[in-house]
Amino acid sequence: MSQREHHIYDVVGIGFGPSNLSLAIALREHWTSGQDGEVSALFLERQSSFGWHRNMLLPSATMQISFLKDLVTFRNPTSSYSFVAFLHASGRLPQFVNNQDFFPTREEFHQYLEWAQARVADRVRYGAEVTSIRLVPGATPEEDRLRLEIEDGEHPAGRVIETRNVVVSTGLVPSMPEGTERDERVWHSSEFLDRYRRTDPSALRRVAVVGAGQSAAEITRFLYDELPHAEVYSVIPSYGYSVADDTPFANQIFDPAAVDDYYFGTDETREAFWRYHRNTNYSVVDDEVIRDLYRRAYDDEVRGTKRLQFLNLTRVTGVKRVGAETRVSLQVGPDAEVRELDCDALVCATGYKGMEPTGLLGALEGYCVRDAAGRYRIERDYRVVTDPELRCGIYLQGGTEHSHGLTSSLLSNIAVRSGEIADSIVARRAGRIAAGPVAVPAEVGGDLL
Ligand SMILES: Cc1cc2nc3c(=O)[nH]c(=O)nc-3n(C[C@H](O)[C@H](O)[C@H](O)COP(=O)(O)OP(=O)(O)OC[C@H]3O[C@@H](n4cnc5c(N)ncnc54)[C@H](O)[C@@H]3O)c2cc1C
Repeated sequence: MSQREHHIYDVVGIGFGPSNLSLAIALREHWTSGQDGEVSALFLERQSSFGWHRNMLLPSATMQISFLKDLVTFRNPTSSYSFVAFLHASGRLPQFVNNQDFFPTREEFHQYLEWAQARVADRVRYGAEVTSIRLVPGATPEEDRLRLEIEDGEHPAGRVIETRNVVVSTGLVPSMPEGTERDERVWHSSEFLDRYRRTDPSALRRVAVVGAGQSAAEITRFLYDELPHAEVYSVIPSYGYSVADDTPFANQIFDPAAVDDYYFGTDETREAFWRYHRNTNYSVVDDEVIRDLYRRAYDDEVRGTKRLQFLNLTRVTGVKRVGAETRVSLQVGPDAEVRELDCDALVCATGYKGMEPTGLLGALEGYCVRDAAGRYRIERDYRVVTDPELRCGIYLQGGTEHSHGLTSSLLSNIAVRSGEIADSIVARRAGRIAAGPVAVPAEVGGDLL
């Protein structure tokens, strides 16, 4: 039988990446501000320790947002959890400022996130994967209790936890080219460094990278630099890489105010957001990486080596194993010439699908309201619109591109968004307390909060 905790949390966060880390801090700061009692919160993360896209922490890869868009500053510029506070604590603030650069390396930002998570670690359980969210058996939807089933490796039959609200923040889902399966020589970018480090570099004489986005360009540059003996092919569906527009007017799309403009806009304005501003984030590459790659290819030509090859307007149509090699079938160039490329490793930097909580929600899906296009309807405070009889809150951090716009899967707005979610949870809790004592079912024995 599953191990059940005799405690009902106000909120449980599923997944502990930057979004829910930011929420944990917002809740902590709300409590320490002394406005109300502490919201009882727990965060569950399936990784064994904190990690933010660890397999893409390539040397010299930089952040694509300003360090001021950290976990807290846009919500609370005086927070002690800011990137600046981290630099101060690390003794590097003057040196960082001397760099005169808004964009730290991802490695340094990861250090910041680790530093911040250590300060709220009493609210986090690592190595805990949530496998389902459901109503408590026998309870009515009006009883605001949800039951989470968890696999944590410690309890063979699993563990269950109860909560009044969940915040699902399980992140993006890696996407492979159609019909392509991962194996020890066919990798998705999300597993890149781990796979690369487990492979003998001398065995990588020809490698190919599929994709035209930031990760594809960064991996191509990395492989070219790390494997001086290897040919590196970049398989690009477009006619070369396109630049990410991070100029000031375009950047307004990531401002907190843009969320209201998107959320309260018409279908036409929402459509215009995407049509005009996709090139701020999707299938685009930072100027500096594009120039680095072009320079390397040009230097190759000067030397007559041609080690770095760009296959433009090219699509992968099939992948199969031939002996130790991977044979990639391609349609290349304007005439869709059919070609095969044998390589020692194929890296698919082919992006991600949006966060999809349906699998976790199971039967609770029946209480969630969807729009005409079949997407969840979401309140402005990121709570899924549910049947009025369901009193528990199901909040999403991610998977809300259709309702809240481009920042849904990005870091740009997490400080403000998690503040809004924290406020909503606090207000709902206050409403419940004001409504009078909640009848405690005998089985939980009064061991509340
Ligand atoms: C290589 C890379 C670089 C990026 N750089 C930037 C950038 O510079 N700027 C920017 O704005 N955005 C960037 N992004 C976008 C990215 O989505 C955000 O950086 C960020 O990861 C969003 O945080 P999150 O917490 O919502 O999701 P994630 O960071 O993906 O965290 C989700 C967490 O949930 C856990 N999890 C999943 N399922 C379960 C479960 N069932 N139970 C328990 N835990 C679970 C996962 O293990 C993971 O730790 C980048 C993305 C990638 C892939």
